[in-house]
Amino acid sequence: MSDNDGKKTLGVRGGPRSGNVKQSFSHGRTKNVVVETKRKRVVVPKQGAGSRSGGGSGPLGDPSRRPAGITDAEMERRLKAVQAAKAREADEAAQRAAEEKAREQERQRRRDEAEQKEREQREAEEKARAKAEEEDRRRREEEENAKRAAAQAAQPAPAADDAKPQRSPKATPPRGRAQPERDDRNRGRGRDDGGRRAGKLTLNQALTGGEGGRQKSLAAMKRKQERARQKAMGGAQQREKVVRDVQLPEAIQVGELANRMAERVADVVKSLMNMGMMVTQNQTVDADTAELIIEEFGHRVVRVSASDVEDVIHRVEDAEGDLKARPPVITIMGHVDHGKTSLLDAIRKTKVVAGEAGGITQHIGAYQVETDGGAVLTFLDTPGHAAFTSMRSRGAQVTDIVVLVVAADDSVMPQTIEAINHAKAANVPMIVAINKCDRPAADPDKVRAGLLQHEVIVEKMSGEVQDVEVSAVTGAGLDELLESIALQAEILELKANPDRAAEGAVIEAQLDVGRGPVATVLVQRGTLRQGDIFVVGEQWGKVRAMENDQGARVKDAGPSVPVEVLGLNGTPEAGDVLNVVATEAQAREIAEYRQQAAKDQRAAAGAATTLEQLMQKAKDDKEVSELPILVKADVQGSAEAIVQAMEKIGNDEVRVRVLHSGVGAITESDIGLAEASGAPVFGFNVRANAPARNAANQKGVEIRYYSVIYDLVDDVKQAASGLLSNEIRENFIGYAQIKDVFKVSNVGRVAGCLVTEGIARRSAGVRLLRDDVVIHEGTLKTLKRFKDEVSEVQSGQECGMAFENYEDVRAGDVIEIFERQEVTRTL
Ligand code: GDP
Ligand code: MG
Repeated sequence: MSDNDGKKTLGVRGGPRSGNVKQSFSHGRTKNVVVETKRKRVVVPKQGAGSRSGGGSGPLGDPSRRPAGITDAEMERRLKAVQAAKAREADEAAQRAAEEKAREQERQRRRDEAEQKEREQREAEEKARAKAEEEDRRRREEEENAKRAAAQAAQPAPAADDAKPQRSPKATPPRGRAQPERDDRNRGRGRDDGGRRAGKLTLNQALTGGEGGRQKSLAAMKRKQERARQKAMGGAQQREKVVRDVQLPEAIQVGELANRMAERVADVVKSLMNMGMMVTQNQTVDADTAELIIEEFGHRVVRVSASDVEDVIHRVEDAEGDLKARPPVITIMGHVDHGKTSLLDAIRKTKVVAGEAGGITQHIGAYQVETDGGAVLTFLDTPGHAAFTSMRSRGAQVTDIVVLVVAADDSVMPQTIEAINHAKAANVPMIVAINKCDRPAADPDKVRAGLLQHEVIVEKMSGEVQDVEVSAVTGAGLDELLESIALQAEILELKANPDRAAEGAVIEAQLDVGRGPVATVLVQRGTLRQGDIFVVGEQWGKVRAMENDQGARVKDAGPSVPVEVLGLNGTPEAGDVLNVVATEAQAREIAEYRQQAAKDQRAAAGAATTLEQLMQKAKDDKEVSELPILVKADVQGSAEAIVQAMEKIGNDEVRVRVLHSGVGAITESDIGLAEASGAPVFGFNVRANAPARNAANQKGVEIRYYSVIYDLVDDVKQAASGLLSNEIRENFIGYAQIKDVFKVSNVGRVAGCLVTEGIARRSAGVRLLRDDVVIHEGTLKTLKRFKDEVSEVQSGQECGMAFENYEDVRAGDVIEIFERQEVTRTL
């Protein structure tokens, strides 16, 4: 970077020899990079040169250009004054130059001192790091070799292997290093106070000093070393070119490209311009272009496939010796109502089915049971409804064994065939449970024959697939079924290493009112611990708490253990992979990268649709109708999840367009926008404030409230396909403002309220709103007017209310009272 002396460099001031450039990279990362110019230009004003600031030499010195209306005498006086000023200035300049020189010497001395110290420290660190790296690399190589030997195919290019140890300093930077680096930066900034600031703790340092702070990149570190070395050699003028291996993903920002080459951004931009590409440092170029640039600068290209931010996730294969036996993960599959949930319940000897809405399993649940023989089995209960087919296919990927439930009185049905195909596609062994054998109409042999048609040959038909006749109702055959599962598991020899950073799969996830985003995670390797920082799909988080399948708090969860995880920043999707990483910064970075990548992908897909639609339109001149909507949600994560889901909805005729999405209460301006576009407004766990409600009533804008994303998505889907059926809708019948909260013995906390709108009814449903966000939903335990229990309280009256099983009420909260009613849907 020294061969460009004297030219302007990006962001570098003419003063000291090092400056600071803030580079912006992909995924919103920024980095401060020290950029140096080789020689410092000391500004010593020459005689007369300084007069520029005097502003006199031009029009005054040249009589021909003298301003009109000035006499010669006046002119002379002015010239004299100017000359006197010049002389004064020259003296001052000389003095300043002398001072500057002295200061500069002092600065140089301090710099040298600091650098000497820094160098020593760095050398020590360098040695330690090199040793650690060497060890790390050897270990990795050994593992790689083992892996390669095991599976010859699908190996990443060797370059990627080389890259890992190189990047490791970024992941675990030596702590002490960042300090002198920052001092340098200060020196670069503090033009006049020179080295004085070195060693002082600035606010910036303090803020970036934590583990969340941006780590110096390898390139930046290398450059620093290079510079120090150069200085040590007495500020050698010529420096041999360092050829670097530059890791190159499919697309790279110009700034990042420059950083990886350790070249100046300005040079890279210039070079791109020479190729006819007008770009700024924040723009992205494709790998082919970047490769040309890298070659032009004389570096080596190392192509990496995925973005390297994900490299911090350890994808190392476990050594055979570290593996320990783990419980099998069993998925129950089968046609709806063939008895999947009942069977699992019978096995668990509990009753889940009674608590389920409508008797249909809503989510994939996960539970562990222990057989009489002592074997631990992890069961996933997949929903039997066709709407969840995609989730089920993900479910099969975490599954070791599929139990295919077929009702003996119903035989093979469409979803039975679907399940068979999923199991086959996932290459998972299957056990057939022929259920409802207690029924008079049961015909197990018909089931076996039916399965045969789909190439599932059970043992009784001289095949390989175990089949067991069971009844979830009487419990007959259950022990035999468990035995079959345990036997199958034994054959599979399932193992995992519990002593590593945890990796798992999301079985289900939802936004829980009160607890925030919650994910049921099946740990697949390693052990997930409370406090672990993780990235999961496009989300990240820190394990705040974990609950096992019995709802008990646990501190850790090993392989094949399903746990409910709290502490996510957003709601992941079922099937997302969870990885534990070292720092919050890494987790955030990966999550942001994935969000961006997903966004890009969607944008690309969106563009393709538009193009297709345009072509279609050209063909038959039929317009694509759009369903515009507005979305407001309680947290960013759910707003995004809804928008994403909305974008996926649509067919050739209808498409959903999210006009606006945001966090917080629905406001008047939302209503205005909705009215202008004829769009309904969706509130997810938020409410419209009073002015917005009035505006909506006036303008006829529909506001719909939801607390389950799935419901919202389903409604929009059905609206888009014109299939709106009658539904149970909620009517808000009243609102009450909490004025005060009392403790009443035998009742608990009672809210003293004023009914502000409508009516409060004891039998109605209630929600607790805090700042227009839903905090709790439930029923009333008590509704009191003075001392008496009453069934209704009218608007304008005071009353006491207490929630069933809920205590966290505060003054200022609002209670929403609603009733359910069947209405015809409109959107
Ligand atoms: P899923 O949709 O596959 O989860 O099926 P469910 O477990 O919800 O069961 C559907 C219905 O079949 C329920 O009414 C159960 O009581 C009934 N059922 C399940 N297993 C049996 C069984 O072994 N015998 C009889 N007689 N009824 C059963
Ligand atoms: Mg079920």
